[in-house]
Amino acid sequence: MTQTIKPLRLNRNALNYKPSGIRAIADLAAQRRTDGLPVYPFHLGEPDFDTPEAIKAATIAALQAGAVHYPPNAGIPALREAIASSLTERYGFPLHFSEVTVTVGACEALTLAMMVCLEPGDDVVVPTPCWPNYLQTPELLGVNVKQVPMSANEGYVLDPEVILNAIGPKTRVVIINSPNNPTGAIANAQVLRTLLDAVRARGIWLVVDEIYHDIVFEQKWCSVLEVAREGDPLIYVNGFSKSYAMTGWRLGYVVAKGEVTQAMQRIHQALVTSVNSFTQYGALEALKEKQAPLSMLNRYTERRKRVLHALEQAEFKTPIPGGGFYVFPKVPETWRDGDSFAHHLLNQYGIAIVPGDVFGSAHRDSFRLCFACADDVLDEGLTLLVKAVQAYNKTF
Ligand code: PLP
Repeated sequence: MTQTIKPLRLNRNALNYKPSGIRAIADLAAQRRTDGLPVYPFHLGEPDFDTPEAIKAATIAALQAGAVHYPPNAGIPALREAIASSLTERYGFPLHFSEVTVTVGACEALTLAMMVCLEPGDDVVVPTPCWPNYLQTPELLGVNVKQVPMSANEGYVLDPEVILNAIGPKTRVVIINSPNNPTGAIANAQVLRTLLDAVRARGIWLVVDEIYHDIVFEQKWCSVLEVAREGDPLIYVNGFSKSYAMTGWRLGYVVAKGEVTQAMQRIHQALVTSVNSFTQYGALEALKEKQAPLSMLNRYTERRKRVLHALEQAEFKTPIPGGGFYVFPKVPETWRDGDSFAHHLLNQYGIAIVPGDVFGSAHRDSFRLCFACADDVLDEGLTLLVKAVQAYNKTF
């Protein structure tokens, strides 16, 4: 007798989940490196700097002192206290350590926020261009993403009217990011307060990701915590990756009031139990570190100038970033779209940039270039980029 074997089933959302388009470029760039070809790595969003020594030393000391067991689920109390007090001191919004959850990067913080606020079939409103996870994670949860394109002519600055018009009966969450990855656009106080008032009136959560809050070039940037009021439906996400060159440490946090925090902590416990024990002492040290983020900011400020100058030479239309370490120019008009442009630059010149539609379907005509890389690599790559575009334009 033949035995019938039942087909094994997998979750449909997991099967349909597409890796980020940044990964696709990264894989091609890695292949070029393996083949011994040069790569100008303008595709990955991470600081080229080393983590400051004091942070490493505090981590090693904690490890040697025996911080090797499960820490408390929501994070070590000293770190949660330090996060709450540093935000309160900096932005004037009173926070208690119980409102802070230490997470595996801002990635996990965002996922927790979405998991507790959204159910399959709900909508999340996401202004674009945006960091690709805002589009992908909801899909994994069976949630519909309403992409709301911001205007390139306005430098992709958040337009509350356009965002609020996209809110429908199924919308439960709006996610924003300032300074923005990939455009560098920053939200001012008025935009943030308008959004908070509107979501509060409609019973919708506002998730605000300020992971680039230490990389700000324009005075008018404002943290949502500067304008937030008691009772606002706000979930605040941040982390250590960008401010302190700690991307590999996987340390972030999420701050929210009351029940939503308890729900996020329950899921956090189920998913990861807790964040690594001894690295949390490094994060504690990072919050004391005032000089390192400032000197990195000075270097980014200088690099931003060089990038904008080079792009201007090649006549790219580039919104000036108010923060972060990216630019999001339009591809030259002679090109079909960002995808063909990015593949041409990588295949012919080794210049790795990311096509614009990775950050939202309306942005095929743009690309992202990250300027968080070594000065000489940046200069060499930019010179080549200008030459490549000028050479291509001459063929028309
Ligand atoms: N949010 C934004 C806007 C980002 O650009 C990134 C990383 O590129 C993250 C969150 C993730 O940060 P983390 O390394 O803390 O997970």
